[in-house]
This record gives sequence, C-alpha cells and structure tokens, in this order.
Amino acid sequence: MRPLHEADALARKIFVESRIQEFLGTRQAIKIKMIQVYSRNYIRFDQGISWTFYRSGIPHGSQNPTNKCCFSAPQVAFQPDVQSRRERPRPGQSRAQRERGRLIGKLHAGNEVFIIGAMNEIEHPGHPAKDACARTANLATLAVATRQWASELGFSALTIGEAELFPDAAEGLRGWLAAGCHGDMHYMARHASVRAHPVELMPNVSRVISARMHYWPDAAPAAEVLGNGALAYVSRYALGRDYHKTVRTRLQKLAERIIRAVPASTRVFTDSAPVLEVEFAQRSGLGWRGKHTLLIARDPPRSSGSCFFIGEIFIDLPLPVDAPVSSHCGRCTACLDACPTGAIVAPYRLDARRCISYLTIEHPSSIPEPLRPLIGNRIYGCDDCQLVCPWNRYTPQSSEKDFAVRNGLDCASLVSLFVWSEAEFLQRTAGSPIRRIGHERWLRNIAVALGNAPRSPEALAALRARAEDSSDLVREHVRWALGRQGG
Ligand code: SF4
Repeated sequence: MRPLHEADALARKIFVESRIQEFLGTRQAIKIKMIQVYSRNYIRFDQGISWTFYRSGIPHGSQNPTNKCCFSAPQVAFQPDVQSRRERPRPGQSRAQRERGRLIGKLHAGNEVFIIGAMNEIEHPGHPAKDACARTANLATLAVATRQWASELGFSALTIGEAELFPDAAEGLRGWLAAGCHGDMHYMARHASVRAHPVELMPNVSRVISARMHYWPDAAPAAEVLGNGALAYVSRYALGRDYHKTVRTRLQKLAERIIRAVPASTRVFTDSAPVLEVEFAQRSGLGWRGKHTLLIARDPPRSSGSCFFIGEIFIDLPLPVDAPVSSHCGRCTACLDACPTGAIVAPYRLDARRCISYLTIEHPSSIPEPLRPLIGNRIYGCDDCQLVCPWNRYTPQSSEKDFAVRNGLDCASLVSLFVWSEAEFLQRTAGSPIRRIGHERWLRNIAVALGNAPRSPEALAALRARAEDSSDLVREHVRWALGRQGG
C-alpha cells in the first residue's frame, strides 16, 4: 500500500479520463485494475473517495454520489498485484474468473485499460460444480427473502425477470415513437435505445426486480366527483405524497437489505429513468398489460386491478426468474369505449397526444381546442380507463399514510383552486406530484374545467378575475372558458 497522496494523481487521472462516475452509484467497494505492460496494480476505492477528489480539484459532483453511497472515510490505496504476474490463465477461464471477482466493466483511457470489479465477491472454494449448486440455492433463498422484505416494506408483490426485453417490445416502442404518439415527450425518443437496452443504464445488470405498491386512497368517490362539474377531479394516484419519493425510498431500502445479505450492484428506478417498466413487470409475471396499456394484477382470492405504482431494482445477480402470467382482458373493450378523448386508438396502443393525463400533466403549451370540452373537470390526470375496468372492482384500498389525501384535493371546488396564488400553489402542493406541473399549467387546466362547468356566477367571476393574468397561456384559456360561460 502506498500513502494516500501518492495515489491521488493516478486516481484523478482515472476519474477524469474514464467514466468512473457512473460506477460510484454501485454502492459497494470498487477495485480498478490497471493493466500495464509489466505489472498490474489495484487502486482500491474501499472506504471513500470524495475527499481525495475534492483535494484534487474535482468538483462536488464527485462527492455527492460517494457520500450517498455511504462511503464514510477517504481512503485510496494503491496495491500491487504481484500474484497475478505469476499466474497463467487456464484454458476457457474468463477474465472475470481469472480476476477472482465479478466484472463490473472495462474502461479505456488513453493507452491504458482499467478493469473494474467488485471487491466483496464471496468466494466459494471447493469443487466448481458444488460451488455452482450452492450459489444457485443461495440465490433462490435470496429471492424468497427479497419477497418477504418487499412485503415488510409495503409492496404488494415482487417478481424477478431477465434484464432482456422481448424483441417485439423494442419494435413496438420504435413504431409508437415513429407514429409520433409520444407528443412533446421528446425524452422518450431521445432515450429509446436505453429503454430497449437496460445494459446502457447498468452495464452489468443481470436481472430486473419489479415491485408494485397499491395506492388507491380513502377519498371521495371518483364517480361522484366526475359527475359534478363544479368540482375538480384529480387522478387518485396524485392526491397524496409524490409516489416517486415513497416508492424509490422503499426500493432503496430493499436494495440495501439485499446487499447486506449478498454483495451486489444495484440501481433503483421508479418512473425516473428510461426504463420500459410495464414491459419488464409483465415479462416477470407481476401482471399482464391491459388493453389500456397499464399493468393489471390479480392477487387471489379477491384483490386485483391496476391501481398501483411500479418500481424496479436492476441487479447484477443471476437470481431465479419468474414466468409471465397470461392476459385476462378477453373480449372486453370497456377502457377503449370509456376513454373521453379516444386516446386508446387500438387495444394496447395509446396516443399520448389525445390522453388527458398527457394533456394536463406533460403537455407544456396550449391544449388543442377540440379536446378541451372532452376533458370535463379533470384538472390533473385521468382515471377513466381504470375506473371502468372490471378488474378494478376488487382494487384494495391502500393503508399507506403517504398516499392519504392532502389539502382536500379529492373533492375541492374548481373556483376555490383557481384563486390560489403561485405561493399558495407551491405551499399546498409541496411534496405532491402535482407541484411539478407548476402554477401556470395548474391555472390552464382549471380554466378549461371552468369552461366545461355548469354556468354559474361564481365560475364567471373566477374566470374574469384571471382575464388579465400575466401568463399568455392562462389568458388564452380563460378567454376560451369565458366564451363557454357566456361571459
Ligand atoms: S377495461 Fe377491459 S380491456 Fe381494458 S384493461 Fe380492463 S379488462 Fe382489459
């Protein structure tokens, strides 16, 4: 081992010239083996590298991931690997086997090659066949334990699948994008290749663990709110805390429990990266894709439906995989018939440009006028295709506190929400998924709903009060709504 300061320059060189940053998210110690002409050396990132890079002038961007990875103290050690020079590889032996570790990745920087491997690999000395059996049994046990931990963390179910997609999934995505069905969601097209190839997100991924968490809250009945045009309808998934935070935190805890049991590399996602979540979940049997394109699950004896969030853990362990389940949509077309804007243009095909969830959440600009009357009083998202689905008759109510209704948003009046100032909007939607659409889109959506509301002096007064709003977008929608209100 050499002192820390001698390793600094080399560590910095590797960091700058390679793509090590992305490996800092592996949440485990990493070893980097430099293959040089005459010798091999390890640089061990055992404990923490944030201070090392800080001293070397690497900006804070390198500290955060390492700190988040719980590497507590700065230590970079330089370790000559004398033994490897004496060893000759056996025929058929892979590089990872020769290195006695799991290969995470290989980097080229200048003329040098760096092999990145896991340091904490469990060794199974003994007969190779027995070793393999023991490992398989351990992985099966780990899969069972993982399900149990997931249940303790509030997940309704968990399944494990290959990290490869069926070829038709990638083909389907390409066709959907080529037809422009993604609307203004340009990030979907930009990351199409990553969606179809998870190794681009995590090079050593072996399995995708999919988990679901039910969210249906104790809220005012959806049908009653939708039937009263003076009230605002908010999609039931968005009434409580932002699910991204809840689900991601739980998945992270689950990944940490797995890593405590067996050293592994993991990455956690929930609607937060270009991952074809429903495809992976379907492939591993977490449910089947309904004709409305959402996942539906059946948990005998009387629990089923599609009202749940999905999240994934990418992992580099070859855990045993689960089989897909068959579809149970049959001849039903209720969701296609019920969609207010006809956005489900064919079974299993959604045109986002017509979808109310897209128009009220993702769409950044003016809502096309022909679609405005069809939006009704839906100001954030839409649940109609799920509300009519027969499988949601048995959807369980969530007892998760995070998903409980906040600020009475399950049945608030349109007029009461339209008077919120930006400060009020930010304060009342803090921690909610609604916050990300911003105050301007919030007012745009409510203006459309007020234009669709039964004529009333209150609606007219609320719209007139916003007629000179500072936002062009809001003013244009208010004008349209005033026209509908006879104002
Ligand atoms: S409404 Fe019918 S067709 Fe649509 S997802 Fe549900 S079961 Fe399938």
